[in-house]
Amino acid sequence: MNELEGYIVSKSFEILRKYPLCDRCLGRLFARYGLGMSNVVRGRAIKVLLLMELHRLISNNVKNLNLLNDIGPNINIMPQLINKYLGSIQPRKCYICSDRLEDIIVELIGKVVDELSRFKLKTFVISVLKNSEMEKRELEIISEFKLDSWESIRREIKRELGKKVKTLVGLEPEFKHPDIVVMVDLDKLDVKTVITPTYILCRYLKLGRNISQVKWFTSDGVRKYPLAIEDVVEPLKSLFNAEDIRLHAAGREDVDARMLGSGRQLVVELRNAKNKTVSVDEVLKALSNSELILILFDRFVESGYVREIKLKNMLKVYRLLVLSEKPLTTDLLRSLEREFTNRVISQRTPTRVLRRRKDIVRFRRVYNVKSRLVNEYLIEFLVKCDGGLYVKELVHGDGGRTTPSFSEFLGCGLKVLELDVIDVISN
Ligand SMILES: [Zn+2]
Repeated sequence: MNELEGYIVSKSFEILRKYPLCDRCLGRLFARYGLGMSNVVRGRAIKVLLLMELHRLISNNVKNLNLLNDIGPNINIMPQLINKYLGSIQPRKCYICSDRLEDIIVELIGKVVDELSRFKLKTFVISVLKNSEMEKRELEIISEFKLDSWESIRREIKRELGKKVKTLVGLEPEFKHPDIVVMVDLDKLDVKTVITPTYILCRYLKLGRNISQVKWFTSDGVRKYPLAIEDVVEPLKSLFNAEDIRLHAAGREDVDARMLGSGRQLVVELRNAKNKTVSVDEVLKALSNSELILILFDRFVESGYVREIKLKNMLKVYRLLVLSEKPLTTDLLRSLEREFTNRVISQRTPTRVLRRRKDIVRFRRVYNVKSRLVNEYLIEFLVKCDGGLYVKELVHGDGGRTTPSFSEFLGCGLKVLELDVIDVISN
């Protein structure tokens, strides 16, 4: 402890003896003390009190002039007092910011506001890159003087910029799921932004056949199927002024299968959407444009939802229309139903997808089967089973690769004429 009593005054004196600091940088070192004032006011108040105290000590005993001598060039306020006792001296620049912090903040505000004005967004967060030269010098002082009451320069910049963005651009701060992340580089005085993706949870129904999820093109660049789910959600891309659109569905049915019932969950991801002020009504309007595909809007969700719907264990209910080589009877079908109640099926990767997928054996369960003879050669089946079961192969057996199969049980060839997913049940 020196001649000056009191923690803040004595600590400030020690620091300013060695390091010149501007009001803001000094105030930040004691940010925990005093409420509802800026670091500039806090730093200025400490300096004023310090100089008043020194003035008092010098008035009592002129020997105390050496105290003022120590900090005179480093304090840069109250020139009349300094000049009176020390004559004209050259003030030194702030050790942390070289007296540039006020200008830096103004410059960064301009850059951030310019950048954010390019988009139509609602929420933001500001992040300041770590380890800037200013931050390193600040940490030097903090560890040298063992300070525990400081606020980091990164936090101060974030707060100062954040306040201005809120008032000048009208965006709200949001730390968990912001529309945009503004990254500030204090060394280069550079501002970069990353727009976070927008995720929309929907369900889709396919009322027709030969509809793929995403657009398929042949090697000649021709559409393989005339219609895709992607076609119907694509208007969202321009609505949100997005750069890219991705579909994340909870599984997939065959292209020739209809998707009925309550539909299949789908998350539409819009990347780099420059307009996030789109209303639910506008989304609904953009989605209502196909007779064969229905997209049912559910809600806006967060990124984690994509993983969630992909990992969900779903049960499926299928309807199949099947042609038999031989005439069948209702009795035979009843015994098939019994045989395939709660039955584990072993499936090697179907021949039709072998080109794209590894040849493995997997096991899936059939929970129950209901059947109806349309005529003695034509049967309608309802099959409830695990997601991921290849249901066409369950019927025709795929040359023995799926076992047991309906074909194997009935002892005759079967052909799937129609396949519909009529329900997807979350397990
Ligand atoms: Zn400074």
